[in-house]
Formats: sequence, structure tokens, C-alpha cells
Amino acid sequence: MASKKSAKYIFVTGGVTSSLGKGIIAASLAKLLQTRGFSVTIQKFDPYINIDPGTLNPYEHGECYVTDDGAETDLDLGHYERFLNIPTSQNNNVTTGRIYNNVITKERRGDYLGKTVQVIPHITDELKANFFKLGKTGKYDIVITEIGGCVGDIESLPFIEAVRQAKLELGPNDFVSVHLTLIPYLAAAKELKTKPTQHSVKQLQEAGIQTDILVGRTEKHLPADIRKKIALFCNVQLNDVIEAMDAETIYDVPILMRKEKLAERVLTKLKLPKSEPNLDEWKNFLGRLKNPTEDVIIGLVGKYVELQDAYKSIVESFVHSGAENECKVHLKWISSESINSKNTSDLLKDLDGVLVAPGFGERGIEGKIEAIRFVREHKIPFFGICLGMQCAVTEFARNVLAHKKAASTEMDNNTPHPVIDIMEEQKKITKMGGTMRLGSYPCTLKKGSKAFAAYGKQQINERHRHRYEFNNAYLKEIEKAGLKASGVNPDTNLVEIVELEGHPWFVGTQYHPELKSTVQNPHPLFVQFVKATIDYKKSKTQ
Ligand code: GLN
Repeated sequence: MASKKSAKYIFVTGGVTSSLGKGIIAASLAKLLQTRGFSVTIQKFDPYINIDPGTLNPYEHGECYVTDDGAETDLDLGHYERFLNIPTSQNNNVTTGRIYNNVITKERRGDYLGKTVQVIPHITDELKANFFKLGKTGKYDIVITEIGGCVGDIESLPFIEAVRQAKLELGPNDFVSVHLTLIPYLAAAKELKTKPTQHSVKQLQEAGIQTDILVGRTEKHLPADIRKKIALFCNVQLNDVIEAMDAETIYDVPILMRKEKLAERVLTKLKLPKSEPNLDEWKNFLGRLKNPTEDVIIGLVGKYVELQDAYKSIVESFVHSGAENECKVHLKWISSESINSKNTSDLLKDLDGVLVAPGFGERGIEGKIEAIRFVREHKIPFFGICLGMQCAVTEFARNVLAHKKAASTEMDNNTPHPVIDIMEEQKKITKMGGTMRLGSYPCTLKKGSKAFAAYGKQQINERHRHRYEFNNAYLKEIEKAGLKASGVNPDTNLVEIVELEGHPWFVGTQYHPELKSTVQNPHPLFVQFVKATIDYKKSKTQ
């Protein structure tokens, strides 16, 4: 039986196709509940076998989102944090790999007392235990669980079965199922088609789940006759058919769901009071986002530019910090591999700022270094994140200190000037999964620095994901030449921030500020970087 449950549960499944935006629907619903005073969290259950997405190439699964407690998680957790402004943790992201790992560990320990260990009940029990984990902390009124993948996928079968069991155990007042599908528009027939949705709902029914609410993602409004048809064939009430129109920005979705009364329908089913949500702050943000008085072009230099999901949190941080500055930030994606010493001017001279992205490995590294040389010399605002900061240190050592062969030992193990070197604790590590320096660490800012001005305080905590670090053997020499360490870990002395003297805005962080930017709290460094690009643009035209 579902044990003492203080929380109520909403399960969000998807059908017809992936990439329909389950994460955004879940986050929007959560926002509508949170703004009514409920304490809500969202968790993502992913059916793939990797223990976590930390070992996945960004081409496979987009950005790996790191939480305060150092979990490497799905990028949807980023949306949850950006919408709700509350931190997530390892418990908010569970994969098939983790579930099997737990079960197999228990089996080896002898916990199953001689039983044959099977998908039902052992895997499904483990899934349910994890479904209910956050709810049992007593911290939440409502837990939303997003099930990754599509109904009907072989690998999601145990997940759907566990949801069926959870429904039975929780009972109708504590469980709601929301199913998101696609209602395609056939241009040739000038018609919205409901058949794929009917099939998807049928598949869920076969698995023993009758969805309570059907959300249809669509590019055209759903007219009354289509809504009626969906209600009839999918066995839901007419007002439980919710239209999810394509939106101009993901931040419109809570407002669209408010119009469709998604949260009201959920609250009715959960027998919870239906007060008015307070969306003032959210609408305020949307007002600033949609009525910019400035605009800038910022170059994003990275190696995954064909796949924008790889830099999801950076892109969203620019949305938040742009709105804060009432400025439209146009991002120009520049492949680091396409940059060389001859074309930097053509590629970068018209930009108002450049961000060099995080990353791993050698591909495109020289392009990143060339880009940094150009923006340093031409005093164009620069923001380097993680590998971007390491490249800034390398560029400075090569071109200002004239250590021509300076490098990170990640790229050149035999460099005579290892200005970026593997961290001591990383030297003995052989396994790849979950072994980087991960999660939140403290950092002390130097008074008078740009970082200190941005944060307005000296002690900060930021999230990390790296194996290499600034080599303190070069600190004196580098600082003397003008690249200052303006943020340092108080316990280990690791350099976490560098900034260049005599440059309008040249900041590199070893940590990932983009992981902590939310609608409510745009990240201070992104806010100041965008401000610097606005000032720089103005200075060009004066
Ligand atoms: N590859 C670098 C390191 O491991 C930077 C990592 C990153 O950019 N996240 O230190």
C-alpha cells in the first residue's frame, strides 16, 4: 500500500511523439499551483538505462543539468527550477538504470530473501518507492511526476505499470493522470486530426490507466467539435480537454494553461480548494520580456551549435537577464571549429558581446581561444563559462605572457605551461560516471571586483561540473599581468572567477552560473554581462 502520504500526486505522460513539451506543461501546471499557495515539486522519471544523463553526449540528450547536491540530471529539471524558483536534487530525477541498480544491489545484499526478482513486483515496487520519496518528506502538498518518453515504448512499460499501481494505491482523490499528445494539422486537408491521440489514449487504457485530463499540443485552436470528439473518443469530460497551443515563448505557457483552466481541473479532481493564482510577478516578467527598449547581438561560441538544447540553461539565462534589462538579446551561434585567426574580425566585429561556452575535449578549442583573443584586444564584453574560462586563462598565458605553448592538460598533456591542470582529487579517478567535481561549492568574492558588484555580497555558492582547474602555480604571474582571480574557494583556494583589468567586462567563471538563473532571480552575472553589452553598443554609436 502507498504508505502515509501527505502529498497528492499528478502523473504526466506523453504520447504520439516525443518533444511535445511535457516538461514545460508540468512546470506550467506546477507554477499555477504554486501561485495559489501550494507547495509543489516536479520529478522526472526517464526510461533509459544510463544511471544518469551525465555520461550522455549532449547530441543525444541536450544539456546535462547539475543540481546543488551534485546530481547530473535531465534538462527538464532546469525548466522546473526556472519556473518554480526552488532547487531540485538527485531525488527529482530517476532513470531505469538507477532503478535496476538499486534492485540489483538489494538482490546481492540478500534483501529479497530467496525470492525470484522480477519486473513485477520488484522493479515496479522500486519505481513506486521513488515516486513517493519526495512526497513523504512532508515538504510538499503536490508532487508532479513527468514520465519521459512516449506511451507504448517498450522501455516505458514498467513505468506505466507502476503508475497504474500507484493510481490504485493512492485512490481517486490523491491521483490525477494528465496525458499530453499531439493534435496534428494536415494542411492539405485543412483539418486537425484526432486519431493519433485516440490511439495513444487507447494504449494507456490497455495498460490500465484512464487519463483524467487530455492536453493536446496543437498549432491551431481546437474548435468545439474537435474538443467534443476528443472527449468522446478518449473517455474524458469535455472540460478536461485542454488545448496547448504553440507559444511564442515557453514562459507564455502558464498563462495559456490558466486560460484553459488546467490547474482548476486538477484541483477539482484532487479535492483541493481553488483560490485565484497570483501571477503578478510572472506577468511583470512577461511584460518586460515582450517590450524591450534595447537590443543586442551576443555571439555564443560553442561546439554544439547545431543543437541548441546543448546550451539550454545559457539560452534561458539570456531570456531572464534580457528581460531584467528590458533588452532583446539576439544570440548568434558560432561554431568554435569555424573560427581561426584570419576570420575572427569578420565573425565577431559586429557583436556586442561574446560568450564562450562550457565543454569537454579538444574539438574547436583553438577557435574558442582565437575568439577570446579578439574580444580581449578589441574590448568587446566577454563571458567565459567553465571551459570558456579555462580558454580565457590559456589565451592570456599564450598571448600576454608569451607562453606560446600554454594549454590545459585536458588538451595537451605535455604542455610546458599547464595553466589549467587536472584537479588533485581527479588524478586517481578512472570511472566516468558521476566522478567530476559536481554541485554547489562556496566562493569568496574580492571586494571591488565586477563579480562582487554584480552579486552585491562576498559569499556565494555556485554549481560546478569539471575535472580541470586554474593552476595556482601561475596565479602570481597571471595576476601581475592583469588577469585577476576575483573569486576563490575559501576551503581549497581553487580559482573560481577571473576578470581582466582595464577591459569593460571580461569575466570567466569556473562554475556554471546559468544553472541558477530563474524567472524570479535572473543570474546577476548574466544581468551585468547583458548590461555591459548594451553599454558597449551605445559606446560604438556615440
Ligand atoms: N572540460 C573542462 C573540465 O573538465 C571544462 C568542463 C566544463 O566546461 N563543464 O574541467
